[in-house]
Amino acid sequence: MTIKSLTPQFVESFPQKLEPGELYLAMEFATAAHLCACGCGNKVITPFSPTDWQMSFDGETVSLKPSIGNWTFKCRSHYWVRSGRIEWAGNMSQEAINAGRKRDAEAKAQVQSSRSVQNVVREPTPLTHEQTEAPSFIDKLKKWLGF
Ligand SMILES: [Zn+2]
Repeated sequence: MTIKSLTPQFVESFPQKLEPGELYLAMEFATAAHLCACGCGNKVITPFSPTDWQMSFDGETVSLKPSIGNWTFKCRSHYWVRSGRIEWAGNMSQEAINAGRKRDAEAKAQVQSSRSVQNVVREPTPLTHEQTEAPSFIDKLKKWLGF
């Protein structure tokens, strides 16, 4: 049976058996779990991080972004969870899936590189003192000759 909405359940840990239509949120682990909205019974785990899913709780319902694409399941279902409601995203071509994966990888790489840039900025810049250079041979010669 197709699931039309997900009701948030804040839990300390995920129960052995998930109920369809419930969205289990283990905030301590920054992870949510629910059963695939197509009704296939597969468990969908959505970790929360800047490069995974972001969840918003409006006090009653939960929204997840980006969309949930269960490409590893037979059903290959793809949907959004918006204000607790399942919104089907329709079939996605393999090309679009790959593009999405590439975007994810790029987003993760960008986070990595911005982190390393920050590290570089924190490193002290070595100072160069050109002014302390010894007087040139010509200058010495001039002095010696009395100019
Ligand atoms: Zn499914």
